[in-house]
Amino acid sequence: MDQLLADKYKLLKEVWGYTTFREGQENVIDRVLATKDSLVIMPTGGGKSLCYQLPALMMDGMTIVISPLIALMNDQVAALKSAGVQVAALHSNMTKSEQIDVDTQLQKSQIKLLYISPERINSTGFTDYLAKFQISLIAIDEAHCVSVWGNDFRPDYVMLHKVRDRFTSVPFIALTATADAATQLDITKQLHLQEPEIFISSFERKNITTESRPAEQKYRQTVEFLQKTENQSGIIYCLSRNETEKLSAKLVSAGFNCAYYHAGMSPVERSKVQKEFQEDKVRFICATIAFGMGIDKSNIRWVIHYAMPKNLEGYYQEIGRSGRDGSPARALLFYSWGDYIMLKRFIDDSQATEEYKTVQYAKLDRMWEYASANECRTNLVLNYFGEYRTKPCRHCDNCIHPPKSKDATVIAQKALSAIIRCNENVTINTLIDVLRGSYRAEIREAGLDKIKTFGAGKDISYINWKIYITQLINQGYIRIDYTDGFKLKATPLTKLVLFEGVSVQLVDISMTDLEIEKTTPHRKKQKLHEGLMLKLREWRSEMATKQQVPAYVIFSDQVFENIVAKKPLIKTDLLNIEGIGKVKYEKYGDTLLAIIRGYMSEQVEVKNVKGQTYIETFNLLQKGLNPKQIAKQREITEATVYGHIAYLYSNDEYVDILAYVTHEEITAVNNAWLKCSKQMALAPIAEYMEAPLEFHKMRLALAYIVKELNK
Ligand code: ADP
Ligand code: ZN
Repeated sequence: MDQLLADKYKLLKEVWGYTTFREGQENVIDRVLATKDSLVIMPTGGGKSLCYQLPALMMDGMTIVISPLIALMNDQVAALKSAGVQVAALHSNMTKSEQIDVDTQLQKSQIKLLYISPERINSTGFTDYLAKFQISLIAIDEAHCVSVWGNDFRPDYVMLHKVRDRFTSVPFIALTATADAATQLDITKQLHLQEPEIFISSFERKNITTESRPAEQKYRQTVEFLQKTENQSGIIYCLSRNETEKLSAKLVSAGFNCAYYHAGMSPVERSKVQKEFQEDKVRFICATIAFGMGIDKSNIRWVIHYAMPKNLEGYYQEIGRSGRDGSPARALLFYSWGDYIMLKRFIDDSQATEEYKTVQYAKLDRMWEYASANECRTNLVLNYFGEYRTKPCRHCDNCIHPPKSKDATVIAQKALSAIIRCNENVTINTLIDVLRGSYRAEIREAGLDKIKTFGAGKDISYINWKIYITQLINQGYIRIDYTDGFKLKATPLTKLVLFEGVSVQLVDISMTDLEIEKTTPHRKKQKLHEGLMLKLREWRSEMATKQQVPAYVIFSDQVFENIVAKKPLIKTDLLNIEGIGKVKYEKYGDTLLAIIRGYMSEQVEVKNVKGQTYIETFNLLQKGLNPKQIAKQREITEATVYGHIAYLYSNDEYVDILAYVTHEEITAVNNAWLKCSKQMALAPIAEYMEAPLEFHKMRLALAYIVKELNK
């Protein structure tokens, strides 16, 4: 078992470059290795793939992965290939010769992971074909597609139980991000899973900071947000196709690099947009909810909901597309009564049964409660999905900046009194106009400029009135009558405020940006980070285009962030970066080091970066200077330069150490070193030497000896 444990971690670092497992992964992997069935429910980005990919590499034989979307499948295959894994795919979008190629590899047992589309595995005779090979594990990705209850039902998935029945002794693992109990049960039943253990991870997405703002001046707010997030990729979700096009056009003319996407576009147009986004050529997309399923872009840094979605399921799934690489991401939701009303009309006008409509109305209400909440938003969503907890999440706006409520009884009295004096016959907008004393024609014609509270709220801006009234609605002091043109009505609580001295607390929502980044270090350092990040991204984008793969297949943003944070200048430090595995290191390590070194050496004012001084020496050595010349040029002692050479050599940099110390000298040092029981300090070694050497030579010799021992 200890060996197994060691192997798991070794593979994790070698192939994926990671040193620890994410929550839940290890338990699932152990279950799979024990050849038992599992059902894994993990949020998007939780790290499901590793749960079958890692065991696949540890078990004898080949793992079959069934995955519904060819584009996703191709990306996964590309990513694994680039990490040095023997992997292939079989689906209907391949040429005959590509398929023959895969068959040849299979016959030679050269495949550890085989991705297959459900149509393909269900095709006649295919399981017989597979049965000829040794199969270690069968993984069913997006397993909720088996369930008719969900939106993603695929008839081909229903047939998969036949595969299960055919390979009864092979462990099955079904994976999905869809949580609800009905779907879980359905998956287990339909796929004939054998006493599966069900692993359910928390659906909290800790790396996503959620935020919700009233939609006032949302265009301006959006532009500010886009400026602040500079080059980061994102999605702006809009409610209608028309809006995606209009907003995108407006933002393009404002100088942003974006495009739009909706289901009304031709498949060719759609895949073009998707591809450009995936390759980081388009920074963000204004899209309807049609955009999502099928994009596997792990470096989406933000999602804006330009309007409120119709339910929390959709919302959570959409924001979940950001930050799949685990790096910080932001989700900004704009909400307004306008959205609410529109969404409600959609339900009203739909052909659905009354029963179905009732459920949809309730879901919409929960969405509204979420959007306008003053307490921890994450808890609200988690509770909605049945994961009850109360501790604050610390990554939503309400946790980061707890809203401060104030006594707003007078404000409430003005609004409530105006509603009554307007005979409960005004909409929210008209009410605000009355409170603010607008002489609009409609108001004069209705005689509303004559009532007592006309102009009583001049000192409060339109936006703030809207925010206050929204809160009064949420607290039950006002009701919106959907059956009467969305007019505002009094409730049983109204008179408590107007006549019985009940006080009201309201929250002042500041319209300024959530200042999460306020704690950033000083500007110079920030600039340095950004510059290096830009260089790395440029290189990655070139590589991605050349290899025709999404950028993240080369390296994820998270890896680049780790690099930028540590700025490794020598090989061993680079290899220690989280997310850099052996194969990737061998493929790209030198190039990365060249980029980092090149960039760092241009930064005159930067000192104190770990390893910088060694690299300066290294660069001069490569230019052909000798230690004496280097010492002079760098204004350091020669002994220091030799120290650098020893360090570089020990850390696998190419330096010709034998140019500075001879084999005889090394042997002499070695003998003395053994005599003083391998102490690493130079003084004791010197004592055991017959003819003392200069210290710097001893240091070089010692570096040589230790390296030889480690070989
Ligand atoms: P899911 O399929 O659950 O949406 P993925 O399997 O695509 O998620 O993983 C999401 C991201 O998390 C990927 O970028 C993956 O490389 C990364 N990841 C997975 N496991 C780990 C881990 N143990 N340590 C660090 N990153 C991980
Ligand atoms: Zn919170």
